[in-house]
Amino acid sequence: MFKKVLIANRGEIALRVHRACQEMGIRTVAVHSTADATAMHVRLADESVCIGPPAARDSYLNVAAILSAASITGADAIHPGYGFLSENANFAEMVEAHGFTFIGPTAEHIRMMGDKIAAKQAMKSLGVPLVPGSDGELASLDEARAVAERILYPVLIKAAAGGGGRGMKVAHSADELEEAWRVARTEAKAAFGNDAVYMEKYLDRPRHIELQVLADTHGHVVHFGERDCSLQRRHQKLVEEAGSPALTAAERDALGAQVTAGLSKLGYRNAGTLEFLWQDGQFAFIEMNTRLQVEHPVTEMVCGIDLVKEQLRVAAGEKLGYTQSDISFSGHAIECRITAEDPESFAPSPGRVNTYHAPGGLGVRVDSALYSGYAVPPHYDSLVAKLVVHGKTRAEAIARMRRALAEMVVDGIRTTLPLHQRIMEDAQFQSGDYTIHWLERFVGLKG
Ligand code: ADP
Repeated sequence: MFKKVLIANRGEIALRVHRACQEMGIRTVAVHSTADATAMHVRLADESVCIGPPAARDSYLNVAAILSAASITGADAIHPGYGFLSENANFAEMVEAHGFTFIGPTAEHIRMMGDKIAAKQAMKSLGVPLVPGSDGELASLDEARAVAERILYPVLIKAAAGGGGRGMKVAHSADELEEAWRVARTEAKAAFGNDAVYMEKYLDRPRHIELQVLADTHGHVVHFGERDCSLQRRHQKLVEEAGSPALTAAERDALGAQVTAGLSKLGYRNAGTLEFLWQDGQFAFIEMNTRLQVEHPVTEMVCGIDLVKEQLRVAAGEKLGYTQSDISFSGHAIECRITAEDPESFAPSPGRVNTYHAPGGLGVRVDSALYSGYAVPPHYDSLVAKLVVHGKTRAEAIARMRRALAEMVVDGIRTTLPLHQRIMEDAQFQSGDYTIHWLERFVGLKG
């Protein structure tokens, strides 16, 4: 097992990785920008290294500075968390070239899945169903028109290098196609430096259901069930559940068996998530994330496992040591992503937190790097806390979440806590009958 792990991230996820390392007797190295000198991940880590000024491109994305930090502190592995360099195949390659272990999949698989067109082709060859669409990259607007006429409007133009909901535009009819094509390509070029786009049928009432997988380096692959992440605003997740209120155990098991067999054939290793749209009882693959996901705690709550410890174990070459039949699911878990944003306009609200009080009690978990007196810097993602609850049933989990949200205090900045309260109180949410389009309409309603 590793002796020292460098955590190439910040905020709650850096703390999350630190906690797993500590319990395993592994020392941790935090890296931080000058804006994060007093951040909780720096305070708790065994050692810390400043890697640059506030802008992420000069610090958390600064590969040379991170590798130097690993080298001077004598770390033997690097955990990338999510975001930043976590899905950067070149980074994974450089980490290994410098003699450190990258805690994640191979650079080859990161590269394959980072190109959504290549990812879809790989899944198709494994027999995994896809959303109907273009066979690959769209070479021209004329080709886009022809594909749209075949699959019928509405259609979605998506960036091959996409992420975070960027470079994605809907065309409801032929009149809107040229504009969608142009805007998606411009956004993709600006965000990813790559304007390759493809087309999918725009599904009108799907749920977003994803499957958590884990593979060791000895050919064993298991899944830890599904998460339902249908509550989204601008294609970004706000609330996640495990399991999905819509899926039966038989449907989950069938998908899981197909996916784990496919990934085993591919030689995949470490953690990953396959994202699907689910409509009329059918799954359609949209993308694979080759890293730990923000919403992984809901899976941990229902499976009783620590996914980061599992990542560390398999990265160190250990065998899984259990099979699919050893994994069972108990109760229901919900996560609310609490961000430093106005709960109605979603305008960013960084600044000093005067008072922070975390809720507690049975079945409540808070993953957050907040503390009273901490100033949320304006330079990074607005996520400040993940409030996660577990209950014997979905109804109990919702009641627990409402109670925990009411206890939580983040005073001094605006947060989305009131919005989460409203969602939990809503009858439609409580019924479990919602699609990816539900929340956009919900936040559009006042009061
Ligand atoms: P990103 O990588 O930018 O997050 P995804 O491909 O994962 O993009 O899609 C993000 C979200 O956009 C999905 O969870 C879903 O809500 C919506 N979406 C993606 N593809 C489709 C589609 N074909 N039809 C309807 N909604 C879609």
